[in-house]
Amino acid sequence: MAQPLRLGIYGGSFDPIHCGHLAIAEEVRSTLGLASVAFVPAAHQPLKGQARCPPDHRLAMVRLACADNPAFIPDDLELRRPPPSYTINTIETFRARHGPAAELWLIIGADAARDLPRWRRVADILGLARVAIVGRPGHSVDLPALEVALPALEGRCVLIDGPRLDISSTDLRRRLAAGRPVRYQMPDTVRLYIAEHGLYQHD
Ligand code: ATP
Ligand code: MG
Repeated sequence: MAQPLRLGIYGGSFDPIHCGHLAIAEEVRSTLGLASVAFVPAAHQPLKGQARCPPDHRLAMVRLACADNPAFIPDDLELRRPPPSYTINTIETFRARHGPAAELWLIIGADAARDLPRWRRVADILGLARVAIVGRPGHSVDLPALEVALPALEGRCVLIDGPRLDISSTDLRRRLAAGRPVRYQMPDTVRLYIAEHGLYQHD
């Protein structure tokens, strides 16, 4: 029997996208043998508050960052929906697009994993998709405790250590506002786009 099609779904503010995002997506793609990873910028993250940069710019930067990896597919489906954007709706869309046989893998960082039990319709999410939790410096994952809080996670989740790059959008926004370097922490195309459009001048 042929292997099922395995697809990654990677949501985030991407405000802005950086090498930490790209490196973990590539790590998960390689570890799980994903055919592709969809990068899905969030219109508005219910648990997080409003993103700082308008969606069109965040999407443009995601497109630039994904351009040189044929397996990375920018997807604006959450930006085209009226807010708030919930992961369950995105997963349902992917399930409808790819049919029941596809294996859907949600990619999240260790810090976001802590919030999982509070996600809207999380048991439905875990019925439709599996979760790859990726290590992040400064954030440990207690999987047994997480499974106590969220029993539906059992058998539906893998931990992937990842390259553990200590890069965050919060730090990059501060750097940009202060005129400090961001080079080598994000693709040059994204860095030049930010400069060209004068983004993140004020924190
Ligand atoms: P912010 O500082 O604005 O929260 P961020 O760097 O955390 O930005 P997000 O867009 O919030 O980036 O992250 C999207 C997803 O990527 C989340 O699941 C987050 O945990 C994960 N992630 C982001 N950066 C890293 C990193 N360096 N290592 C591992 N996971 C990461
Ligand atoms: Mg974050």
